[in-house]
Amino acid sequence: MAVCGRFAPTPSGRIHLGNILCAMLSWLSVRAKGGRYLLRIEDLDAMRCPRSLADQIEDDLQWFGIDWDDGGSAGGESWYQSTRSPIYDRYFEKLEQQGLLYPCFCSRAELHAAQAPHRSDGTYVYAGTCRGLTPEQIAEKRKHRPPAMRVRVPDRTVSFSDGCQGVYTENLARDCGDFIIRRSDGVYGYQLAVVVDDAEMGVTEVVRGRDLLESTPRQLYLYERLGLPAPEFYHIPLLTAPDGRRLSKRDGDLDLGVLRARFGRPEPIVGMLAAAVGLRPTAEPVALAELAADFSWDKVSRMDVALPSEILQR
Ligand code: GLU
Repeated sequence: MAVCGRFAPTPSGRIHLGNILCAMLSWLSVRAKGGRYLLRIEDLDAMRCPRSLADQIEDDLQWFGIDWDDGGSAGGESWYQSTRSPIYDRYFEKLEQQGLLYPCFCSRAELHAAQAPHRSDGTYVYAGTCRGLTPEQIAEKRKHRPPAMRVRVPDRTVSFSDGCQGVYTENLARDCGDFIIRRSDGVYGYQLAVVVDDAEMGVTEVVRGRDLLESTPRQLYLYERLGLPAPEFYHIPLLTAPDGRRLSKRDGDLDLGVLRARFGRPEPIVGMLAAAVGLRPTAEPVALAELAADFSWDKVSRMDVALPSEILQR
């Protein structure tokens, strides 16, 4: 199958350095192999993701030197997840027919109070409160609030080999728990949408931040239940401040608006990121396209990488 990669930003703000690193590595990985590159806008939560922000992302990517073969505004409406609910409906039904879904009426406060083990991505392992509701209980609860829909996961260990992080293993029941497929307001969850879209769009490699590594076993489970081919995964290091702490709001000036104004051209930023992740020995300015010739995942750091202090200076 032809190599196909993608960048799939959620346009809830201006693109920042971590996002551009992800775009850069996913683009290089595909271009180094002569593959296709797609831009999909993950605006499932349309209220939080106005089109103006998606348009701004396209402008920032182009400025940085990233092009795409399909998707974005030139590709038409179907590249925005907010328009794809009818497609997700079909796959939702497939899961429902297998008896894998059940309604969940738990409020945020109830989920919090259940004190289930906390995952590192900030979500809870669901305690299974609504797993065994009877049809009568469901009918009664539906009178008071619309439910979210969860997928039942088996007590099974899923293991896969990540192209950047190596082997990653998780037990679905213990480490993940039954997870949300559709929210109570009818908006589909990230896990279903990303699986359906990557499969429908022919994506063969997924490059994204290491913070999404823990989502991958859930997604592999969905690929399996939906009979879809799974792509390869590359979970890239996260960027940290020079002292190793996670970048925070205080570092909000690392968005492309500020960086474009400060550097005026992309080459210094490309060079700095390339050196930070191990693609180049020094941070000399370089054009993105120049890095494609000898790009290799073997060079890319697995560990989170600290940004040089110059970049954080205001
Ligand atoms: N939309 C997600 C984000 O912006 C990325 C999802 C993915 O690459 O799988 O963080």
